[in-house]
Amino acid sequence: MSYTPTSDRYQTMQYRRCGRSGLKLPAISLGLWHNFGHVDVLENCRQILRLAFDRGITHFDLANNYGPPPGSAEENFGRILQKDFAGYRDELIISTKAGYYMWEGPYGEWGSKKYLVSSLDQSLKRMNLAYVDIFYHHRPDPETPLEETMTALDLIVRQGKALYLGLSNYQPEEAAKAIRILQQLGTPCLIHQPKYSMFERWVEGGLLDLLEKSGVGCIPFSPLAQGLLTNKYLTGIPADSRAAKPHGFLQENQVSEDKLMKVGKLNELALERGQTLAQMALAWLLKDPRITSVLIGASKPEQLADSLQCLNNTRFSPEELTRIEGILH
Ligand code: NDP
Repeated sequence: MSYTPTSDRYQTMQYRRCGRSGLKLPAISLGLWHNFGHVDVLENCRQILRLAFDRGITHFDLANNYGPPPGSAEENFGRILQKDFAGYRDELIISTKAGYYMWEGPYGEWGSKKYLVSSLDQSLKRMNLAYVDIFYHHRPDPETPLEETMTALDLIVRQGKALYLGLSNYQPEEAAKAIRILQQLGTPCLIHQPKYSMFERWVEGGLLDLLEKSGVGCIPFSPLAQGLLTNKYLTGIPADSRAAKPHGFLQENQVSEDKLMKVGKLNELALERGQTLAQMALAWLLKDPRITSVLIGASKPEQLADSLQCLNNTRFSPEELTRIEGILH
C-alpha cells in the first residue's frame, strides 16, 4: 500500500531549537539502534516509521553499526525511505555516526580521518542518500589526536556529505576541547548525544552546563533505560522484550530487584499524574529546556503512540520532583 503522510502532522509535535543553531528538532526523535535490523520484520519497521512521521517526528537517528547485522538498520531505513518517504527528504533530519567497530583491520573503528570518511561513504551508500543531516563521532578515541578527528568531521561538512556535526559519549572535559576545535575550524558542534535517564544522570555533573554555555544542543539516548523505565518488566520479563532477545543490549541481570522496586514506585506516581511510566520518564527529561529532543526507541507502533503522549504533560510540581528524588536515591 502506498503511503501518504497525514496532513496535520506538524500540529501536535513541539519543535525545539538545537543550541544556538538554525535547526529545530522534534521534542521526540526516533532511534533505530534496536528493532530495525535484518533480524526484525521489515513491515513492522515501516509501520513504526510511518506513524512517527505522521505524528511530526522528523528526526531519525542511525549509526553505521546498528542492526544486527551491523549496517542493516541503515539498509532497511534506506529501503523504506525510497518506498515511502522519497518525496519528503527535505522534511527529514537523518543522523548517522561512526566510532564503534565496523570492519576488520586498523581502519574499521575509533576516530581516524581514514575511518570516519570511509564509514560515512558506506553509510550513504547503504541508505542511498547524497548527504546526512547530522554526522556524529560516536565515542571519543583515546589514541587519535582530537584535532585529527575534528578536522575529519569539518572536512565531511565541507564536502557536503553532512550538514551538521555531533559528538556522542564525550565527557565534559573532552567535549569542551572538541567544541573549541570545531569552533576554530568554522564548523560549530550542533549537538551532543549522551545517555541520560532517571537511572543514568552523569550529564548533570557538568555536561549540561557546558552545552548550554557553548550553544550546543543535547539529545539524550536510552531515555527509558532501554525499557526498564516502563511498566513492562513489573510482572516478569516478557518473551518479546529486549531483555529476552539474544541480541538485545539489555541483560536480564539489569532487570534487578532493586531497579524494579524503584520502577514500581515511579509507576504509582506516573498513574497519579495520569501518565504511563514511559510518558513520565520522557516528560521528566523534557522539563529541562536544555534538552533539545529525547531519542527514544520502540519495538511496536503502539509503544511509540504511548510515548508520544508524554508531550501532554511535561510539568512537575516541586512535591513530585522531591518524591522522584526520594525514589531514585
Ligand atoms: P529507550 O530507552 O527509549 O528504549 C526503547 C525500548 O523501550 C523499546 O525498544 C521497547 O523495548 C521499550 N519501550 C519503548 N517505548 C515503550 C512504551 N511506551 N512502553 C513500554 N515499553 C516501551 O531507547 P533505546 O535504548 O532504544 O535508545 C534509543 C536510541 O538512542 C537508539 O535507537 C539510538 O538511536 C540511540 N542510542 C545511541 C547510543 C550512542 O552511543 N550514541 C547508544 C544507544 C542508543 P522492547 O524492545 O523490550 O519492547
